[in-house]
Amino acid sequence: MFKRFYPDYKFNSVRDIDEDFFRKNNIKFALLDIDNTLVSYTVPKADEAAKGFLEMLDNAGIEYAFVSNNHKERVERFAKEFGAIYVHDAAKPLLFGIKRAMRALGAKRENTVLIGDQVFTDVYAGKRAGLLTVMVDPIEAKETPFFEIKRKLEKFVLKDYKG
Ligand SMILES: [Mg+2]
Repeated sequence: MFKRFYPDYKFNSVRDIDEDFFRKNNIKFALLDIDNTLVSYTVPKADEAAKGFLEMLDNAGIEYAFVSNNHKERVERFAKEFGAIYVHDAAKPLLFGIKRAMRALGAKRENTVLIGDQVFTDVYAGKRAGLLTVMVDPIEAKETPFFEIKRKLEKFVLKDYKG
């Protein structure tokens, strides 16, 4: 009943995704959420773990873009040091940001994965765009009532999901 929200794959962290995963799924392009996927909201730049993941993508020949719902200042600051394509204020699950990033990459949907931590923005957007979707556990749970409610809803819609 909630299959449109089911990610194709689920990992604890981006660090658990290896080169082999991309090869096996014939993936050449990756659209990456930033907040709580690569680093927590409060971390302005990539830490060692995020850098390690992005280096792995480089080594695997995967081209990537950052597609974030966060604002320009945050996204630009994060993306700059990698010289990567980025879209801020992407308004996922709307598709315009995803399409813009894919155009800039020259990506086809059958070779593209979307990686994010949220069901209703990242996973849903990726599925609507016809991409492979990967969900990771959020790096840091935010202690706001809205965040908690959203997480509970996510748990509910994914309760039959077997990963
Ligand atoms: Mg996120």
